[in-house]
Amino acid sequence: MDLNFVKKIVPDLFLTDSPTGYSGEIDRYVLRILEEMGYHPQVTNKGNIVLKLEGKKHDKIRATSAHLDTLGLMVRSINSDGTLQVTNIGGPCLPTLDGEYCKIVTRNQKRYTGTILCHSASSHVYEDAKSKPRDLDSLMVRIDEKVFSKKDVETLGIANGDYIMIDPKTTLTVSGFLKSRFIDDKGSVCAILGVLESMKEEKPMYDTYVYFVNQEEVGHGASAICPDIDEFVTVDMGCIGKDLAGNEYAVSICAKDSGGPYSYELTNQLCRLAQQEKIRYVVDIFPYYGSDIGAAWRSGVDCKGALIGPGVHASHGMERTHFDAILETMKLLRAYLRSE
Ligand SMILES: [Zn+2]
Repeated sequence: MDLNFVKKIVPDLFLTDSPTGYSGEIDRYVLRILEEMGYHPQVTNKGNIVLKLEGKKHDKIRATSAHLDTLGLMVRSINSDGTLQVTNIGGPCLPTLDGEYCKIVTRNQKRYTGTILCHSASSHVYEDAKSKPRDLDSLMVRIDEKVFSKKDVETLGIANGDYIMIDPKTTLTVSGFLKSRFIDDKGSVCAILGVLESMKEEKPMYDTYVYFVNQEEVGHGASAICPDIDEFVTVDMGCIGKDLAGNEYAVSICAKDSGGPYSYELTNQLCRLAQQEKIRYVVDIFPYYGSDIGAAWRSGVDCKGALIGPGVHASHGMERTHFDAILETMKLLRAYLRSE
């Protein structure tokens, strides 16, 4: 298994905007990739992509998933000076948005560029330009059009509730790093697609559903997962920082997050597989974190649940990982799909 396929899909995958609730474009992109591999995916009413793989055995049903949706902003209101007041989609680290380029997409699919800035934007004018807290009240969008009033902005077709896409600034370095917003969870989407590419001619051990989920960032992505599954290993970013063991070169196995512990036996099985396959892995607890396992459990799905994923630095801010972490994640996911 190598990273050639993954590196090939990274630019388009990351540049396809997919803030929670705006799933059409990313769904079409991922469907095309899966169909080119020879798979037959479907899209659910909720916008999740589901792919059913027939296993060698049928006495257990497994599922895996990663989420396609990302963080973003939405127009809350139009200010009298022609700037936009915003509301958050998911939980972006708001101070990191100050100065970022963005795109406003109207409901008629008109697109305008802009910059997310603080209302005290100029150091030469505002005493608090450096000290003002960057929050939803103090941030705004400066549109790259000659607008001077609310009416000017309305004339462009921009309205409350329009999506604002944050520039992911995707960069691949020669040293093997992937720098971008939304590696959570497109890094994991890459890992699953890489595993599917490598298993095109191979059946997994058990019948397996593969889900590409939307609306995870707002907490209910996998709530609509097939209720018949026995095991669910979701692939989502690993945390890095403070006293955690996670890093940009390993796959993280999450023992517990804000929703409580993951399934003991399934988590043990993943640790065992990582040891057997000599996969670089860490076990961590994720302090402020929820996942699609919690969404499935809260919706009443009676399954074992576990979480693995590449370590991602500065999550929900200006993220980074190394392709090593994506490769180790792919190895562990494939080992799981092949295992008893
Ligand atoms: Zn995530």
